[in-house]
Amino acid sequence: MPSCWPFLSIKNRLLSLISNLNSFLRSLGTRAATVELLNSAPSNRAMSSPKIAVVGAGIIGISSALRILQAFPGAEVTIFAESVSPDTTSDVAAGFWGPSYISNTPHEIVISWGKETYDHLVDLAKSDPQSGKCGVFLAPGFELLSVDDPGTRYWSHIPLEFRRATPSELSVFPSRIKSGIYFISAVAEGSKLIPHLTDQFKALGGKLVENHRVNSFSELQQLGYKHIINCSGLGAMKLCGDKTMFPIRGQVHRVAAPWLKFWFTSDDGTYCLMNTNFAVLGGVAQKGDWNMSVSETDKAGILSRNYAIWPSLRAAPVLADLVGLRPGRDKVRLERENIGDCTIYHNYGHGGSGLTLFWGCAGDIVQLLKADLPTAACKL
Ligand SMILES: Cc1cc2nc3c(=O)[nH]c(=O)nc-3n(C[C@H](O)[C@H](O)[C@H](O)COP(=O)(O)OP(=O)(O)OC[C@H]3O[C@@H](n4cnc5c(N)ncnc54)[C@H](O)[C@@H]3O)c2cc1C
Repeated sequence: MPSCWPFLSIKNRLLSLISNLNSFLRSLGTRAATVELLNSAPSNRAMSSPKIAVVGAGIIGISSALRILQAFPGAEVTIFAESVSPDTTSDVAAGFWGPSYISNTPHEIVISWGKETYDHLVDLAKSDPQSGKCGVFLAPGFELLSVDDPGTRYWSHIPLEFRRATPSELSVFPSRIKSGIYFISAVAEGSKLIPHLTDQFKALGGKLVENHRVNSFSELQQLGYKHIINCSGLGAMKLCGDKTMFPIRGQVHRVAAPWLKFWFTSDDGTYCLMNTNFAVLGGVAQKGDWNMSVSETDKAGILSRNYAIWPSLRAAPVLADLVGLRPGRDKVRLERENIGDCTIYHNYGHGGSGLTLFWGCAGDIVQLLKADLPTAACKL
Protein backbone atom coordinates (compact mmCIF):
# COMPACT_ATOMS: atom_id res chain seq x y z
CA MET A 1 0.00 0.00 0.00
CA PRO A 2 2.64 2.47 0.96
CA SER A 3 3.90 1.95 -2.54
CA CYS A 4 0.54 3.44 -3.68
CA TRP A 5 1.09 6.68 -1.82
CA PRO A 6 3.31 8.23 -4.36
CA PHE A 7 0.67 7.47 -7.00
CA LEU A 8 -2.13 8.84 -4.83
CA SER A 9 -0.04 11.82 -4.11
CA ILE A 10 0.58 12.35 -7.81
CA LYS A 11 -3.15 11.78 -8.52
CA ASN A 12 -4.09 14.30 -5.81
CA ARG A 13 -1.59 16.79 -7.12
CA LEU A 14 -2.96 16.31 -10.61
CA LEU A 15 -6.54 16.77 -9.35
CA SER A 16 -5.51 19.84 -7.44
CA LEU A 17 -3.68 21.14 -10.52
CA ILE A 18 -6.77 20.56 -12.70
CA SER A 19 -8.99 22.25 -10.13
CA ASN A 20 -6.61 25.25 -9.96
CA LEU A 21 -6.48 25.35 -13.74
CA ASN A 22 -10.28 25.30 -13.89
CA SER A 23 -10.67 28.14 -11.43
CA PHE A 24 -7.93 30.07 -13.26
CA LEU A 25 -9.78 29.55 -16.55
CA ARG A 26 -13.06 30.53 -14.88
CA SER A 27 -11.42 33.66 -13.51
CA LEU A 28 -10.03 34.36 -16.98
CA GLY A 29 -13.53 34.01 -18.38
CA THR A 30 -14.88 36.29 -15.67
CA ARG A 31 -12.09 38.76 -16.30
CA ALA A 32 -12.77 38.62 -20.03
CA ALA A 33 -16.46 39.14 -19.38
CA THR A 34 -15.68 42.04 -17.03
CA VAL A 35 -13.36 43.63 -19.57
CA GLU A 36 -16.06 43.19 -22.20
CA LEU A 37 -18.59 44.79 -19.87
CA LEU A 38 -16.25 47.67 -19.07
CA ASN A 39 -15.61 48.20 -22.76
CA SER A 40 -19.21 47.90 -23.76
CA ALA A 41 -20.68 49.99 -20.96
CA PRO A 42 -19.46 53.36 -22.20
CA SER A 43 -20.13 52.22 -25.75
CA ASN A 44 -23.74 51.38 -24.94
CA ARG A 45 -24.12 54.59 -23.02
CA ALA A 46 -22.65 56.59 -25.88
CA MET A 47 -24.65 54.60 -28.38
CA SER A 48 -27.95 55.58 -26.85
CA SER A 49 -26.96 59.14 -26.07
CA PRO A 50 -25.96 60.81 -29.35
CA LYS A 51 -28.74 63.17 -30.20
CA ILE A 52 -28.13 64.37 -33.71
CA ALA A 53 -30.06 66.95 -35.71
CA VAL A 54 -29.92 67.12 -39.50
CA VAL A 55 -31.09 70.30 -41.22
CA GLY A 56 -32.50 69.60 -44.69
CA ALA A 57 -34.27 66.73 -46.44
CA GLY A 58 -32.85 66.98 -49.96
CA ILE A 59 -30.59 64.20 -51.21
CA ILE A 60 -27.71 65.45 -49.04
CA GLY A 61 -29.71 65.59 -45.79
CA ILE A 62 -31.54 62.30 -46.26
CA SER A 63 -28.43 60.34 -47.23
CA SER A 64 -26.40 61.84 -44.37
CA ALA A 65 -29.14 61.02 -41.85
CA LEU A 66 -29.48 57.48 -43.15
CA ARG A 67 -25.76 56.74 -43.12
CA ILE A 68 -25.46 58.14 -39.59
CA LEU A 69 -28.18 55.80 -38.36
CA GLN A 70 -26.63 52.88 -40.19
CA ALA A 71 -23.29 53.63 -38.51
CA PHE A 72 -24.63 54.55 -35.05
CA PRO A 73 -27.62 52.24 -34.58
CA GLY A 74 -28.58 53.59 -31.15
CA ALA A 75 -28.42 57.27 -32.05
CA GLU A 76 -31.42 59.58 -31.96
CA VAL A 77 -31.39 61.25 -35.37
CA THR A 78 -33.99 63.88 -36.31
CA ILE A 79 -34.24 65.74 -39.62
CA PHE A 80 -35.68 69.25 -39.54
CA ALA A 81 -36.70 70.44 -43.00
CA GLU A 82 -38.57 73.37 -44.38
CA SER A 83 -39.52 71.39 -47.48
CA VAL A 84 -39.39 67.71 -48.31
CA SER A 85 -39.66 65.58 -51.44
CA PRO A 86 -41.12 66.30 -54.01
CA ASP A 87 -40.48 69.98 -53.25
CA THR A 88 -36.69 70.12 -52.94
CA THR A 89 -34.09 71.07 -55.55
CA SER A 90 -32.96 67.45 -55.50
CA ASP A 91 -36.37 66.46 -56.90
CA VAL A 92 -35.89 68.72 -59.92
CA ALA A 93 -32.53 67.21 -60.85
CA ALA A 94 -32.34 64.63 -63.59
CA GLY A 95 -30.06 62.71 -61.24
CA PHE A 96 -27.34 62.10 -63.79
CA TRP A 97 -23.91 61.04 -62.44
CA GLY A 98 -21.28 63.47 -63.76
CA PRO A 99 -19.45 66.21 -61.81
CA SER A 100 -20.63 69.70 -62.84
CA TYR A 101 -20.87 73.22 -61.42
CA ILE A 102 -18.73 72.54 -58.38
CA SER A 103 -16.23 75.29 -59.11
CA ASN A 104 -13.00 74.83 -57.22
CA THR A 105 -13.79 71.78 -55.16
CA PRO A 106 -10.45 69.90 -55.23
CA HIS A 107 -10.39 67.14 -57.82
CA GLU A 108 -9.13 64.48 -55.45
CA ILE A 109 -12.10 65.07 -53.13
CA VAL A 110 -14.59 65.01 -56.00
CA ILE A 111 -13.02 61.74 -57.14
CA SER A 112 -13.32 60.25 -53.68
CA TRP A 113 -16.98 61.30 -53.12
CA GLY A 114 -17.91 60.68 -56.76
CA LYS A 115 -16.43 57.19 -56.87
CA GLU A 116 -18.07 56.11 -53.63
CA THR A 117 -21.40 57.38 -54.95
CA TYR A 118 -21.00 55.85 -58.42
CA ASP A 119 -20.00 52.47 -56.99
CA HIS A 120 -22.90 52.59 -54.56
CA LEU A 121 -25.34 53.31 -57.41
CA VAL A 122 -23.91 50.45 -59.46
CA ASP A 123 -24.42 48.15 -56.46
CA LEU A 124 -27.99 49.35 -56.01
CA ALA A 125 -28.77 49.04 -59.71
CA LYS A 126 -27.30 45.56 -59.83
CA SER A 127 -28.41 43.98 -56.59
CA ASP A 128 -31.22 45.87 -54.93
CA PRO A 129 -34.66 44.57 -55.92
CA GLN A 130 -35.91 48.08 -55.10
CA SER A 131 -33.60 49.78 -57.64
CA GLY A 132 -36.44 50.19 -60.15
CA LYS A 133 -38.67 51.73 -57.51
CA CYS A 134 -35.95 54.10 -56.32
CA GLY A 135 -35.02 55.35 -59.80
CA VAL A 136 -31.45 54.04 -59.89
CA PHE A 137 -30.05 52.57 -63.10
CA LEU A 138 -27.00 52.58 -65.37
CA ALA A 139 -27.24 54.79 -68.43
CA PRO A 140 -24.91 54.84 -71.45
CA GLY A 141 -24.69 58.00 -73.53
CA PHE A 142 -22.64 60.71 -75.21
CA GLU A 143 -21.05 63.97 -74.25
CA LEU A 144 -21.00 65.87 -77.57
CA LEU A 145 -18.46 68.57 -78.38
CA SER A 146 -18.06 71.13 -81.12
CA VAL A 147 -14.25 70.99 -80.86
CA ASP A 148 -11.92 68.42 -82.38
CA ASP A 149 -10.27 67.38 -79.15
CA PRO A 150 -12.58 66.15 -76.37
CA GLY A 151 -9.79 66.60 -73.83
CA THR A 152 -9.56 64.63 -70.62
CA ARG A 153 -11.78 64.31 -67.55
CA TYR A 154 -10.09 63.94 -64.17
CA TRP A 155 -12.83 61.52 -63.10
CA SER A 156 -12.68 59.37 -66.27
CA HIS A 157 -11.55 56.24 -64.38
CA ILE A 158 -14.74 56.11 -62.31
CA PRO A 159 -17.46 55.08 -64.81
CA LEU A 160 -17.64 51.44 -65.88
CA GLU A 161 -16.89 52.54 -69.45
CA PHE A 162 -15.32 55.80 -70.62
CA ARG A 163 -13.84 56.38 -74.08
CA ARG A 164 -13.79 58.71 -77.07
CA ALA A 165 -16.87 58.46 -79.26
CA THR A 166 -16.10 56.77 -82.56
CA PRO A 167 -16.57 58.55 -85.93
CA SER A 168 -19.52 56.31 -86.74
CA GLU A 169 -21.18 57.16 -83.43
CA LEU A 170 -20.60 60.86 -84.06
CA SER A 171 -22.02 60.56 -87.57
CA VAL A 172 -25.58 60.30 -86.23
CA PHE A 173 -25.32 63.75 -84.66
CA PRO A 174 -25.36 67.19 -86.38
CA SER A 175 -22.25 68.14 -88.33
CA ARG A 176 -21.28 70.82 -85.78
CA ILE A 177 -20.41 67.96 -83.41
CA LYS A 178 -16.70 67.30 -83.97
CA SER A 179 -15.84 64.96 -81.12
CA GLY A 180 -17.41 63.27 -78.15
CA ILE A 181 -17.11 61.00 -75.18
CA TYR A 182 -19.09 57.86 -74.57
CA PHE A 183 -19.52 56.77 -70.99
CA ILE A 184 -21.80 54.78 -68.74
CA SER A 185 -23.35 57.12 -66.23
CA ALA A 186 -25.47 56.09 -63.25
CA VAL A 187 -28.80 57.80 -62.70
CA ALA A 188 -30.26 58.48 -59.26
CA GLU A 189 -33.64 60.16 -59.68
CA GLY A 190 -34.07 62.43 -56.67
CA SER A 191 -37.86 62.30 -56.71
CA LYS A 192 -37.79 58.50 -56.39
CA LEU A 193 -34.62 57.96 -54.39
CA ILE A 194 -35.33 60.48 -51.62
CA PRO A 195 -38.67 58.87 -50.61
CA HIS A 196 -36.95 55.46 -50.70
CA LEU A 197 -34.06 56.62 -48.47
CA THR A 198 -36.56 58.38 -46.18
CA ASP A 199 -38.43 55.09 -45.70
CA GLN A 200 -35.16 53.36 -44.84
CA PHE A 201 -34.25 56.15 -42.42
CA LYS A 202 -37.61 55.93 -40.65
CA ALA A 203 -37.43 52.14 -40.52
CA LEU A 204 -34.21 52.52 -38.51
CA GLY A 205 -35.96 54.80 -36.03
CA GLY A 206 -35.12 58.19 -37.59
CA LYS A 207 -37.55 61.08 -37.26
CA LEU A 208 -38.44 63.65 -39.90
CA VAL A 209 -39.94 66.98 -38.82
CA GLU A 210 -41.48 68.62 -41.91
CA ASN A 211 -42.36 72.28 -42.51
CA HIS A 212 -39.81 73.26 -39.90
CA ARG A 213 -37.60 76.17 -40.79
CA VAL A 214 -34.46 76.41 -38.65
CA ASN A 215 -33.58 80.08 -38.27
CA SER A 216 -30.41 79.58 -36.27
CA PHE A 217 -28.34 76.69 -34.94
CA SER A 218 -28.95 77.97 -31.41
CA GLU A 219 -32.61 76.94 -31.78
CA LEU A 220 -31.46 73.35 -32.10
CA GLN A 221 -28.86 73.82 -29.37
CA GLN A 222 -31.67 74.86 -27.05
CA LEU A 223 -33.47 71.62 -27.90
CA GLY A 224 -30.42 69.76 -26.58
CA TYR A 225 -28.59 69.05 -29.84
CA LYS A 226 -24.81 69.17 -29.61
CA HIS A 227 -24.23 67.59 -33.02
CA ILE A 228 -25.94 69.29 -35.96
CA ILE A 229 -25.49 68.25 -39.58
CA ASN A 230 -26.11 71.20 -41.87
CA CYS A 231 -27.47 69.97 -45.22
CA SER A 232 -29.54 73.03 -46.04
CA GLY A 233 -28.36 73.47 -49.63
CA LEU A 234 -28.86 77.02 -50.82
CA GLY A 235 -30.62 77.68 -47.48
CA ALA A 236 -27.14 77.75 -45.91
CA MET A 237 -26.73 81.19 -47.38
CA LYS A 238 -29.07 82.56 -44.70
CA LEU A 239 -28.64 79.92 -42.02
CA CYS A 240 -24.84 80.34 -41.90
CA GLY A 241 -24.64 83.82 -43.36
CA ASP A 242 -22.51 82.26 -46.10
CA LYS A 243 -21.95 85.08 -48.55
CA THR A 244 -19.88 82.88 -50.87
CA MET A 245 -23.04 81.06 -51.96
CA PHE A 246 -25.07 81.84 -55.05
CA PRO A 247 -27.94 80.25 -56.96
CA ILE A 248 -27.32 78.67 -60.36
CA ARG A 249 -30.76 78.65 -61.89
CA GLY A 250 -31.79 75.60 -63.89
CA GLN A 251 -34.89 74.88 -65.94
CA VAL A 252 -35.90 71.48 -67.30
CA HIS A 253 -38.76 69.98 -69.26
CA ARG A 254 -39.91 66.44 -68.71
CA VAL A 255 -41.06 64.83 -71.94
CA ALA A 256 -42.53 61.45 -72.80
CA ALA A 257 -39.97 59.79 -75.06
CA PRO A 258 -39.91 56.09 -74.11
CA TRP A 259 -38.11 55.22 -77.35
CA LEU A 260 -35.00 57.07 -76.25
CA LYS A 261 -32.61 54.70 -74.45
CA PHE A 262 -29.42 56.77 -74.26
CA TRP A 263 -28.55 60.23 -72.95
CA PHE A 264 -26.67 63.09 -74.57
CA THR A 265 -25.21 66.37 -73.41
CA SER A 266 -23.69 69.06 -75.57
CA ASP A 267 -21.11 71.76 -74.88
CA ASP A 268 -23.73 74.45 -75.57
CA GLY A 269 -25.52 73.40 -72.35
CA THR A 270 -28.15 71.22 -74.04
CA TYR A 271 -28.98 67.88 -72.48
CA CYS A 272 -31.42 65.03 -72.75
CA LEU A 273 -31.25 62.59 -69.84
CA MET A 274 -33.48 59.58 -69.35
CA ASN A 275 -35.45 58.98 -66.20
CA THR A 276 -37.70 56.00 -65.53
CA ASN A 277 -40.93 57.56 -66.78
CA PHE A 278 -39.71 60.45 -68.95
CA ALA A 279 -36.70 62.15 -70.48
CA VAL A 280 -35.41 65.38 -68.92
CA LEU A 281 -34.52 68.11 -71.40
CA GLY A 282 -32.27 70.97 -70.36
CA GLY A 283 -30.77 73.21 -69.75
CA VAL A 284 -29.67 76.51 -68.45
CA ALA A 285 -27.19 77.45 -65.72
CA GLN A 286 -27.89 81.08 -64.81
CA LYS A 287 -25.57 82.20 -62.05
CA GLY A 288 -27.09 84.61 -59.52
CA ASP A 289 -30.64 84.27 -60.90
CA TRP A 290 -33.29 83.67 -58.19
CA ASN A 291 -36.26 83.48 -60.58
CA MET A 292 -38.29 80.37 -59.78
CA SER A 293 -40.83 80.94 -62.56
CA VAL A 294 -40.70 78.98 -65.79
CA SER A 295 -39.26 81.15 -68.55
CA GLU A 296 -40.95 80.62 -71.91
CA THR A 297 -37.83 81.98 -73.62
CA ASP A 298 -35.66 79.42 -71.87
CA LYS A 299 -38.18 76.71 -72.70
CA ALA A 300 -38.20 77.53 -76.42
CA GLY A 301 -34.40 77.52 -76.46
CA ILE A 302 -34.07 74.25 -74.56
CA LEU A 303 -36.58 72.42 -76.74
CA SER A 304 -35.23 73.69 -80.05
CA ARG A 305 -31.61 72.89 -79.10
CA ASN A 306 -32.63 69.35 -78.17
CA TYR A 307 -34.70 68.91 -81.34
CA ALA A 308 -31.69 70.01 -83.39
CA ILE A 309 -29.59 67.22 -81.90
CA TRP A 310 -32.22 64.47 -81.90
CA PRO A 311 -35.16 65.47 -84.12
CA SER A 312 -37.51 62.65 -83.08
CA LEU A 313 -37.86 64.44 -79.74
CA ARG A 314 -40.26 66.81 -81.50
CA ALA A 315 -42.84 64.05 -81.14
CA ALA A 316 -42.40 63.85 -77.35
CA PRO A 317 -45.22 65.55 -75.42
CA VAL A 318 -44.04 67.90 -72.67
CA LEU A 319 -45.26 66.55 -69.34
CA ALA A 320 -43.88 69.14 -66.93
CA ASP A 321 -41.76 72.31 -66.76
CA LEU A 322 -39.57 72.72 -63.68
CA VAL A 323 -37.18 75.27 -62.25
CA GLY A 324 -34.58 74.70 -59.54
CA LEU A 325 -31.74 76.66 -58.00
CA ARG A 326 -28.49 74.74 -57.73
CA PRO A 327 -26.67 75.51 -54.47
CA GLY A 328 -23.61 77.23 -55.95
CA ARG A 329 -20.45 77.89 -53.96
CA ASP A 330 -16.76 78.31 -54.67
CA LYS A 331 -16.37 74.77 -53.34
CA VAL A 332 -18.47 72.21 -51.54
CA ARG A 333 -18.36 72.82 -47.81
CA LEU A 334 -17.87 69.63 -45.83
CA GLU A 335 -16.24 70.36 -42.50
CA ARG A 336 -16.94 70.72 -38.82
CA GLU A 337 -17.32 74.01 -36.99
CA ASN A 338 -17.49 74.38 -33.23
CA ILE A 339 -19.97 76.90 -31.91
CA GLY A 340 -19.91 76.96 -28.10
CA ASP A 341 -20.37 73.41 -26.86
CA CYS A 342 -22.03 72.43 -30.11
CA THR A 343 -20.46 71.00 -33.28
CA ILE A 344 -21.91 71.82 -36.68
CA TYR A 345 -21.01 69.45 -39.51
CA HIS A 346 -21.50 71.34 -42.76
CA ASN A 347 -22.41 69.42 -45.89
CA TYR A 348 -23.69 71.86 -48.51
CA GLY A 349 -22.87 73.77 -51.69
CA HIS A 350 -22.94 70.83 -54.11
CA GLY A 351 -23.81 72.97 -57.14
CA GLY A 352 -24.84 70.74 -60.05
CA SER A 353 -23.47 67.57 -58.47
CA GLY A 354 -25.55 66.69 -55.43
CA LEU A 355 -26.78 63.45 -56.99
CA THR A 356 -23.23 62.69 -58.12
CA LEU A 357 -21.57 63.05 -54.72
CA PHE A 358 -24.22 62.46 -52.04
CA TRP A 359 -23.25 58.99 -50.82
CA GLY A 360 -19.54 59.77 -50.53
CA CYS A 361 -20.24 63.05 -48.73
CA ALA A 362 -22.55 61.28 -46.28
CA GLY A 363 -19.74 58.79 -45.64
CA ASP A 364 -17.35 61.61 -44.75
CA ILE A 365 -19.88 63.08 -42.32
CA VAL A 366 -19.99 59.70 -40.60
CA GLN A 367 -16.19 59.69 -40.39
CA LEU A 368 -16.19 63.12 -38.72
CA LEU A 369 -18.81 61.94 -36.23
CA LYS A 370 -16.83 58.77 -35.58
CA ALA A 371 -13.83 60.86 -34.62
CA ASP A 372 -15.96 62.98 -32.28
CA LEU A 373 -17.98 60.16 -30.77
CA PRO A 374 -15.17 57.60 -30.49
CA THR A 375 -16.83 55.41 -27.90
CA ALA A 376 -20.13 55.13 -29.71
CA ALA A 377 -20.84 51.82 -31.38
CA CYS A 378 -20.05 52.43 -35.02
CA LYS A 379 -20.57 50.03 -37.88
CA LEU A 380 -18.66 51.88 -40.56
C1 LIG B 1 -32.33 71.77 -63.21
C2 LIG B 1 -31.34 71.05 -62.31
C3 LIG B 1 -30.80 69.84 -62.76
C4 LIG B 1 -29.86 69.18 -61.98
N1 LIG B 1 -29.36 68.00 -62.43
C5 LIG B 1 -28.46 67.33 -61.68
C6 LIG B 1 -27.95 66.09 -62.12
O1 LIG B 1 -28.33 65.59 -63.17
N2 LIG B 1 -27.00 65.48 -61.36
C7 LIG B 1 -26.57 66.01 -60.18
O2 LIG B 1 -25.71 65.41 -59.55
N3 LIG B 1 -27.07 67.17 -59.72
C8 LIG B 1 -27.99 67.85 -60.44
N4 LIG B 1 -28.50 69.02 -59.99
C9 LIG B 1 -27.98 69.58 -58.74
C10 LIG B 1 -28.67 68.98 -57.53
O3 LIG B 1 -30.04 69.13 -57.67
C11 LIG B 1 -28.18 69.65 -56.25
O4 LIG B 1 -26.78 69.60 -56.17
C12 LIG B 1 -28.76 68.93 -55.03
O5 LIG B 1 -30.16 68.92 -55.12
C13 LIG B 1 -28.34 69.57 -53.72
O6 LIG B 1 -28.95 68.82 -52.71
P1 LIG B 1 -29.21 69.41 -51.26
O7 LIG B 1 -29.83 68.32 -50.47
O8 LIG B 1 -27.98 70.06 -50.78
O9 LIG B 1 -30.23 70.61 -51.50
P2 LIG B 1 -31.80 70.64 -51.61
O10 LIG B 1 -32.33 69.53 -52.43
O11 LIG B 1 -32.14 72.02 -52.03
O12 LIG B 1 -32.30 70.40 -50.13
C14 LIG B 1 -32.11 71.38 -49.14
C15 LIG B 1 -32.97 71.03 -47.96
O13 LIG B 1 -32.68 71.93 -46.89
C16 LIG B 1 -33.90 72.50 -46.42
N5 LIG B 1 -33.59 73.78 -45.82
C17 LIG B 1 -32.91 74.82 -46.34
N6 LIG B 1 -32.80 75.80 -45.43
C18 LIG B 1 -33.42 75.37 -44.31
C19 LIG B 1 -33.66 75.92 -43.02
N7 LIG B 1 -33.20 77.11 -42.67
N8 LIG B 1 -34.36 75.18 -42.11
C20 LIG B 1 -34.82 73.96 -42.43
N9 LIG B 1 -34.64 73.39 -43.64
C21 LIG B 1 -33.95 74.08 -44.56
C22 LIG B 1 -34.78 72.53 -47.65
O14 LIG B 1 -36.13 72.73 -47.30
C23 LIG B 1 -34.47 71.16 -48.22
O15 LIG B 1 -35.17 70.18 -47.51
C24 LIG B 1 -29.46 69.71 -60.73
C25 LIG B 1 -30.05 70.88 -60.27
C26 LIG B 1 -30.99 71.54 -61.05
C27 LIG B 1 -31.59 72.80 -60.53
